[in-house]
Amino acid sequence: MNPYPNSRYELSRRGFLTKSAQGLGLAAAYPLVSQSVSAHEHGGRKPLGIALVGLGGYATRQLAPALQETEYCKLTGIVTGTKEKEKIWSDKYGIKEENIYNYDNYDSIADDEDIDIIYVVLPNSMHAEYTIRAAQAGKHVICEKPMALSVAECQQMIDACQKAGVKLSIGYRLHFSPYHRRIIDLAKGEELGAPRYVQSEFGFTIGNPDQWRLKKALAGGGAVMDVGVYCIQGSRYATGLEPVAISAQEFKTDPMKFGEVDETVTWQLEFPNGIVSNSTTSYSLRTNRLYVNYQKGRAELEPAYSYRGLAGRINNETLDFGRTNQQAKQIDGFVKTIWEDTESEVSGEEGLRDMRVVEALYKSIAQGGKRVEI
Ligand code: NAD
Repeated sequence: MNPYPNSRYELSRRGFLTKSAQGLGLAAAYPLVSQSVSAHEHGGRKPLGIALVGLGGYATRQLAPALQETEYCKLTGIVTGTKEKEKIWSDKYGIKEENIYNYDNYDSIADDEDIDIIYVVLPNSMHAEYTIRAAQAGKHVICEKPMALSVAECQQMIDACQKAGVKLSIGYRLHFSPYHRRIIDLAKGEELGAPRYVQSEFGFTIGNPDQWRLKKALAGGGAVMDVGVYCIQGSRYATGLEPVAISAQEFKTDPMKFGEVDETVTWQLEFPNGIVSNSTTSYSLRTNRLYVNYQKGRAELEPAYSYRGLAGRINNETLDFGRTNQQAKQIDGFVKTIWEDTESEVSGEEGLRDMRVVEALYKSIAQGGKRVEI
């Protein structure tokens, strides 16, 4: 199941960049996260080894191909519960037999010197456990979004990584897109004045009614947990502020299919100084947009949240940043934070802040849309 079918660009090959074309010209104008040290300064360092845990759609179709484009990281291991995938992946990516794990021997990855980073790409309810066990194995961790099912779990993951002395980051790939870097930059208010209003929407039509995304125990929630977190992220970095309150409303057209999780949710986030953002997320309608109104203009991305093919404008200027492999940049960016011993912009704390908003959002829905302070 492709969770982002609303992008007509999804199946396009346009996003697969040659390294030489990747990011050329863009880095100077809008430096991507953690690019404070230029590539050649890391020259001669051995790329770090990474193992993907959970070889589903995202790992197979996005992360593994992205790992063929990373400069500082190499796919050296896999963790899978499906025997047939072992040969397919080792044939395709040259993964050594001794670097192939399953869910029973996962912890023995601790002794594997070919693996420095574990990337958790499992259903949401498994993020906390597999991140904590990765940290206990002494490995740095990238965990997919949503970081976990609760603020308490997020905190446990952060604590486990701190205790083990390993780095933790969340798969917030859009921080590594030049389109979103531009939005992040505009939040400073230097070009168009202060941001005043944000509209952030992301929804798609979900297929198979039996998938884990529709089971509360595995997903923790519906569209909000899956793609709504992008809207929360977008509103936070477009304003550069932390929200103080939320009011949320839930709507269902198919109470059977969405018996356990939310289908469509709208919400308003209040930021300091009367700044507001309005969002919609859905499992039954296609929308993919980030709009920001500033004192002196507006910025608009549509599609905003896809893997590639983003488009947009700032006032009358059309944005065209060419092609970027968001995931390759994201993973290389994480390696730099390890090498430089800096904090990732998409750290565990960043995931926790979003989860705080998600918890307040569900509380507001449970209280009939009442305003809940965050
Ligand atoms: P998927 O269903 O395609 O894959 C899930 C994988 O987990 C499968 O390989 C499955 O075998 C394995 N698994 C292990 N235990 C399982 C269990 N008990 N139930 C179900 N599956 C189990 O899902 P996906 O789309 O790859 O999503 C995985 C994670 O990645 C999710 O947390 C999702 O939110 C995230 N994701 C992020 C992005 C992004 O753009 N950052 C995009 C897609 C998915």
